[in-house]
Amino acid sequence: MKLTIGHLFPDLLNLYGDRGNIQCLAKRLRWRGIEAEVKTFSIDEEIDFSALDIVLLGGGSDREQMLVCNRLKEIKSEFKAYVEDMGVVIAICGGYQLLGKYYETDEGKIDGLDIVDMYTVQEKGRLINNIFIKSDLFEMPIVGFENHGGRTYINDNKPLGKVVFGKGNNGKSGYEGVVYKNVIGTYLHGPLLPKNPQLCDYLLTKALERKYGADKAVLAPLDDIEEKEANKYIVDRYSDKIENFKERIRKLI
Ligand code: GLN
Repeated sequence: MKLTIGHLFPDLLNLYGDRGNIQCLAKRLRWRGIEAEVKTFSIDEEIDFSALDIVLLGGGSDREQMLVCNRLKEIKSEFKAYVEDMGVVIAICGGYQLLGKYYETDEGKIDGLDIVDMYTVQEKGRLINNIFIKSDLFEMPIVGFENHGGRTYINDNKPLGKVVFGKGNNGKSGYEGVVYKNVIGTYLHGPLLPKNPQLCDYLLTKALERKYGADKAVLAPLDDIEEKEANKYIVDRYSDKIENFKERIRKLI
């Protein structure tokens, strides 16, 4: 078996080690004897979505998002068709915002891919800190680092999780990220996947399922000792700052 991972515009969208997500996806496949190919695309390169199994759209500054936005207009319909056909996408921060209809900044409106019915507006101040959330998709909490001026409103879509510590989509809803078909959008940098192996394996499983069928998409377990420790480190560091932490996390789970 083999998966091809497409990294879109790493020259423009790649903040706080988002590229590490690609390495994590490829490594966790190879550890299980599954072949992994990584294709990177710069802004002027043709993208054949039919040859991709997972797409990563990383984070970027408003200026970089503005540059990417013009290119996204050209690939919008193929990207959308890939998503509707259950193509796997992991989109981080600036990339997450671009999945929606638009991102309105003080400098102007950046058109998004309009793949998910959501939008982002720049509001006063930036939401910056470590963050951890609880998703009903995984047993482990999801940890990461957020830094965004945009606030995202996901309408009736399913969020990725509930914020336990941090700000998330807009600092008000208590939710973080979005899940739409096989697309996950999230504000969490870090990079996200090395510290969240269950999320990484979820993406790999979805991609294998789509390509080879559910019976083949069974990933051999890995020990994940270091990954779990890294995850726990963030959770422990912030849990004593949260009032009634134990009760809160119990309610969220
Ligand atoms: N430029 C966007 C914002 O500030 C996204 C930033 C990022 O990707 N970290 O909201």
